[in-house]
Amino acid sequence: MITFEEAYDTVLKETRETATESIPFTDSCNRILAEDVASDIDMPPFNRSAVDGFACHSEDILNQLEVVETVAAGRVPACNVGKNQCSKVMTGAIVPDGCDIVVMVEDAMTLSDGMIKFSINDLKPNISLRGEDVHTGDIVLRKGKCILPQDIAVLASVGHTEVLVRCKPLVGIISTGDELVHPSMFPALSQIRNSNAYQLQAQVARAGGIAVDYGIAPDNEEATYELICKAVTGCDLLLITGGVSMGDFDFVPAVLERAGVKILFDKVKVQPGKPTTFGVHSDAVIFGLPGNPVSSFIQFEMLVRPLMNRMTGSNWKPLTISLPMAVDYTRKSTSRKALIPVLINDRKEVVPVDYHGSAHISSLSCADGIIVLEIGTGSLKKGEIVDVRQI
Ligand code: AMP
Ligand code: MG
Repeated sequence: MITFEEAYDTVLKETRETATESIPFTDSCNRILAEDVASDIDMPPFNRSAVDGFACHSEDILNQLEVVETVAAGRVPACNVGKNQCSKVMTGAIVPDGCDIVVMVEDAMTLSDGMIKFSINDLKPNISLRGEDVHTGDIVLRKGKCILPQDIAVLASVGHTEVLVRCKPLVGIISTGDELVHPSMFPALSQIRNSNAYQLQAQVARAGGIAVDYGIAPDNEEATYELICKAVTGCDLLLITGGVSMGDFDFVPAVLERAGVKILFDKVKVQPGKPTTFGVHSDAVIFGLPGNPVSSFIQFEMLVRPLMNRMTGSNWKPLTISLPMAVDYTRKSTSRKALIPVLINDRKEVVPVDYHGSAHISSLSCADGIIVLEIGTGSLKKGEIVDVRQI
């Protein structure tokens, strides 16, 4: 049995990168950028007023000033501002050349003769200088970034309306087991609802892939073989859940080999998720994930998602925060790395969720993250600082 770290390295070595495609920037949210994006302009593009106010020379601010014009946003100033003069400027408008301050309208008074007098305490210029945010040619977004709504604004501002992104990996999902029924059915005695397929679909979508559901393979070697052969040629990555343990009907590893998949590992010193299996085929890479939904969820996050990130060149990493344990925690066996679902309480302390085992899917809904207990470590003390990885 290999360690989790060995499994992780083995998986990442099998990265098959997806192609790139050019798409309208308005469709690019949550996609992975495949190019560096440079600005084609200075930002701001001109000395811009940050307030509605009066632009003038700061040496004149104690004097009564004549208003030479009003400059709206989107207009070019027509008049020069001379000694003891000012221009009324709106937020976002060009500050006339030579003016070094814009006094807010709130700090200005119009006298009966139409002249302006200021009453100000601080001399804030209220001018955003040309190029102070970005210069022409500066890189504003880097390759590998997951494009977020705020990046869409950046793309818009620099005129990058066609954006090169990585293609989404096609991720096939096969569920296995005669006991499985569709979630819309009420299970008969001995049956359970298929939850893994839908959990995995959501995880795949969140990780930037396109999930393709291949349905349920019954616990029958021939049918499982046929479904695996069909799926493996149709996707970049194939996820099979269940059928990888040591039961009499756990055919998946044998069937994978028969289908031409080279198995690189079939057990990992990790809990939950020991029977996690991984192999390669000329058409796809394949994970055999445990049937238990909690194990399947966690192994997807720990192994499949990092691989999907590599496939698309994504530099996304889960947020990890260091917080103290709220309680003592102990475990009996320390021969495997433990991945423990935890929640963060109102006092910003870490509490392992009430968890009866890897089928206890509702416990995962209460979890904010997972913490790791390395091989050989059996306990954590209340107050000890642990790293919580967001899930
Ligand atoms: P297996 O690895 O096939 O022995 O499955 C381990 C456990 O996970 C069994 O209790 C299965 O009933 C359960 N299981 C397997 N596949 C699914 C699934 N798609 N949805 C929910 N539970 C499953
Ligand atoms: Mg099964």
